[in-house]
Amino acid sequence: MIILRNALILDPEGRALRKDIAVGAGTVLHVVDHQAEEAGDEVVDCRGRLVLPGLVNGHTHLGTYLDKGQDDVHSLFPWLVATYPAGAPVEELTVAFGLGLLEAIRAGTTGVVAMDTFPQPTLEVLVRSGLRVVAALGLTDYGFALKRRAAFRAARKHLDRIAALGCPRITAGLAPHSLYLCSDELVEGCGRLCDDHQATLTLHVSETKAEREYVRETSGTTPVLHLQRLGVLGKQTLVAHGTWATPEELEVLASTRTALALCPTSNLKLFSGLLEADKPFAAGVNVFLGTDSAVSNNNLDLFEEMRVADLFTRFRRGAACYPRELGARLFRAVARGGLPLSGGDGRIVAGMPADLVLLELSDPRLVPAERLQSHLVYACGAGAVREVMVDGQWLMRDRVVGTLDQQELSERAGRLLARPRDRGPLAALARKLLAQRLRTIHATTHPSPR
Ligand SMILES: [Zn+2]
Repeated sequence: MIILRNALILDPEGRALRKDIAVGAGTVLHVVDHQAEEAGDEVVDCRGRLVLPGLVNGHTHLGTYLDKGQDDVHSLFPWLVATYPAGAPVEELTVAFGLGLLEAIRAGTTGVVAMDTFPQPTLEVLVRSGLRVVAALGLTDYGFALKRRAAFRAARKHLDRIAALGCPRITAGLAPHSLYLCSDELVEGCGRLCDDHQATLTLHVSETKAEREYVRETSGTTPVLHLQRLGVLGKQTLVAHGTWATPEELEVLASTRTALALCPTSNLKLFSGLLEADKPFAAGVNVFLGTDSAVSNNNLDLFEEMRVADLFTRFRRGAACYPRELGARLFRAVARGGLPLSGGDGRIVAGMPADLVLLELSDPRLVPAERLQSHLVYACGAGAVREVMVDGQWLMRDRVVGTLDQQELSERAGRLLARPRDRGPLAALARKLLAQRLRTIHATTHPSPR
């Protein structure tokens, strides 16, 4: 048993309370007023720490981490072509996963929904990291039956491989990329496979206006309503973005208990637009925040996502209509602890998974300590995180990550990036196919004048 003695925690109203937290068998056993005599295998003096439930990143891509900074200027479609990771060698993906997870841990993240490809060494990195991860296999078919059959084969194999890992922290997901890069059959089939395997279905939805218009043109309805028609919404589904979601779509997400990961920084950086963050909360949607990939953000800091979501909503709403509870709601959407799709409500309570984050109270960003709830949204950043625990195991102590080797990973990244990055003719063909597909979508939504 680990005792976190004399730690500050926040109650639902954001008031700081001083408590002892007992952790055992991967769970918070109890949270009680300070008891000087309580003994444990390890007693940690937490007088200088604020303890939060672990932060959960509802949408990211780890495999492109080494492409960070490659394209900081384009909007989504040309950006997708420029940063398309086809043909990336396994060593590069492995290092990218390692660095992405390392950054996530150092930013107080304990759970990640990752939409990627997962060659075996990357799975080993996921396990070694100690984080909780939904490993969601990214899939596309561009409407081609042959590509679809290959996607289903890959999906089944992925579900089996994650089950074979036997690591309860790593759960399986399928990620048909979006309604514009996947056929209805692929999305529907992935939904069924996820149902059969208790896996998470996740996809990009209504990220851009062009996507929404394309879905309207091809299906006669909006993206979320189309997904409902396909029968894939529900409590095991997490849609990312929702930038252009209508009030009706938000109601459908809420009524079907489908989760939504807002990705404010990525949406702004890729010129996609942004959903005012108060809208999904008001509709009763299970809201997550996501960083999206490090190539479109360019960091994995969920404190920043809270702040950007809040500030953008202020900009759109104005002082008279800004909902004052938004900051606290964003905090609860991020500080979930535990499994990504269930999660808590920003509180530390007995029985929750021991996914905890310890912040240094002397960090100037957390001073004065009387208004911590405010600082977490408007002042804090990844650098205030000192310790991270997942499933009762320490992943970081005093800002040193013990599960992944920062020095070794950055040296490997340096060696990889020093080599020519030509990915060969197959990757070039894949990039060409993607560009062609995106041109078709653009033409559908922007018909040339007669
Ligand atoms: Zn994404």
